[in-house]
Amino acid sequence: MFKRNIRGVSLSNKEKYKAVLFDIDDTLFNSSLMSSSARKNAIRAIRRAGIEIDEDKGYSILAKIVKKYGSNYGEHFNRFLEEIGHQPHPKLIASAVVAYHSEKHALLRPFPDVVLTLLTLMKELKIGVVSDGIQENQWEKLIYLGFQHFFETVVINEKKPNQKPGTYGFQKALNELGIADPAKVIYVGNSIEKDIVGANRMGLVSVLYDPKEKADKDKLTGEEKPDYIIKRISEITKIVSIKQNKKIM
Ligand SMILES: [Mg+2]
Repeated sequence: MFKRNIRGVSLSNKEKYKAVLFDIDDTLFNSSLMSSSARKNAIRAIRRAGIEIDEDKGYSILAKIVKKYGSNYGEHFNRFLEEIGHQPHPKLIASAVVAYHSEKHALLRPFPDVVLTLLTLMKELKIGVVSDGIQENQWEKLIYLGFQHFFETVVINEKKPNQKPGTYGFQKALNELGIADPAKVIYVGNSIEKDIVGANRMGLVSVLYDPKEKADKDKLTGEEKPDYIIKRISEITKIVSIKQNKKIM
């Protein structure tokens, strides 16, 4: 675990922290894998329905459509079929949608040590979520993950100006938790541009979840520099000095 101590104070004091807030996508579960696998499964369903399309080529066409129209657009598969020269027949669309959702739901599982870490943290601190996206979609993920009752605050920023790295959602979470001092709150996320910059702007303790060690910590400066970089979510218990109890009844 990499630790920065820019504030010139010891950050390992348990009493120092009152809450830990989390990002959702690619922090609590593998959102990137879920999206790509679900799209691939939809392409396979379209192929099984008799439409000739190379799987990799289909995937890249679908990825471009999602990028063009946004992930919350409701007619990706209509546009996809038109793009490859086929009528968007409702039966075909439904096959793709069912394949997409069944794969998505199968992969909506927390990262291995997330459940134990949350259960450990919530014994001594408040835990919460600050995420960007459509409210229903993000809640759907939390419910599939089994976390709908875990968090004392769940803030989902729908509007762009409120989204990270803006501080709106963080401030709202602090208000809901009744915590005035942001330095007593940890924020954990996987994105430097959104999570770390936003948390640092808010004055929170910023933790970059970087399981594949992609971040070049020597190149991160200013508000992009996290207070901590962790490879496993369970390392947060060390930051807040709570011994992880492996026998949670
Ligand atoms: Mg994320």
